[in-house]
Amino acid sequence: MKDKKKDIRALTKEQLQQFFVSQGDKSFRGTQVYEWLWGKGAHSFEDMTNISKDTRQMLNENFVINHIRVDQMQRSSDGTIKNAVKLHDDLTVESVLIPTPSRTTACVSSQVGCSLDCKFCATAKLKRMRNLNPDEIYDQVVAIDNESRLYFDKPLSNIVFMGMGEPLMNYNNVLKAIEMITSPEGLGMSPKRITVSTSGVPKMIKRMADEEVKFKLAVSLHSAIDEVRTSIMPFNATFPLNDLREALEYWYAKTKSRITYEYVVWKDINDSRRDVEALVRFCKYVPCKVNLIEYNPIGDDHFKQAPESTTNLYVRELERNGITCTVRRSRGKDIDAACGQLANKSKEVAV
Ligand code: SF4
Repeated sequence: MKDKKKDIRALTKEQLQQFFVSQGDKSFRGTQVYEWLWGKGAHSFEDMTNISKDTRQMLNENFVINHIRVDQMQRSSDGTIKNAVKLHDDLTVESVLIPTPSRTTACVSSQVGCSLDCKFCATAKLKRMRNLNPDEIYDQVVAIDNESRLYFDKPLSNIVFMGMGEPLMNYNNVLKAIEMITSPEGLGMSPKRITVSTSGVPKMIKRMADEEVKFKLAVSLHSAIDEVRTSIMPFNATFPLNDLREALEYWYAKTKSRITYEYVVWKDINDSRRDVEALVRFCKYVPCKVNLIEYNPIGDDHFKQAPESTTNLYVRELERNGITCTVRRSRGKDIDAACGQLANKSKEVAV
């Protein structure tokens, strides 16, 4: 029966080789099929033209290829593309392609919904339904790479795990996906072009450091004062800033990789001099840079973008203290594709 079949891409290369040996075939056959599945992106066993018909039929009887499907694609007036991606069990996640003159960046999802409950985030309202499998994360990247080549005439250059979900709450699958994205059998991308953005789960940050991962780390900080951060990111009560600081110091000691802090400035929430000073202090613990991000409304009156003068105060004080910072304009706002806006609201395909 179809639902008894196993997702073939859940197998490692070694497991696939062993499967073929157990069928009386050569382990090399496993390598060939693996290449079709990952490097060549085969959607069906029929595509595997250098595999005999009998073998393809045998694979068909035992396995499925659970490919994602880009169900809807929307294009923003600024060129940003948002994909609504249908999974094999009919759930939907979203991923975004952000083009700039120098690069094209994929923002991918790691969970359906999210385990956390950041008050300013549209995804949080969906709650977590399940983790994405490594192949579902990988497929989002492949789909965006194809769109980048088609619409912008260049391959995808960067990936950020900043879509739906907290990547460190789906750690193993995110790591497996990154392994395939960076492997020569997959997309062969440099890990230095990949950023995992977390709301800050100290235990997992330390684990990543221990495993000496080569990708970059970003932290959605938004406040360096515990009570303010807890009011907008309630899990901060469980993982307070001191624990986060300790984990980040550990990360830097092991990896020597600078951290990026993502920070939105909201009116009446984190717009006082005390907030600015707390951020400057926090930034001195570990080498870092700060991205001040323009806020994208999600229909909640509580969160309003602070005036430009407040952002300028942050920039001035950070720079005065030797901390690199950039102000990031929001992209894809008109199609709800901007940071914190992903909530499966895709409408008409607007190409
Ligand atoms: S901001 Fe990120 S971690 Fe927080 S609820 Fe949204 S998707 Fe989850």
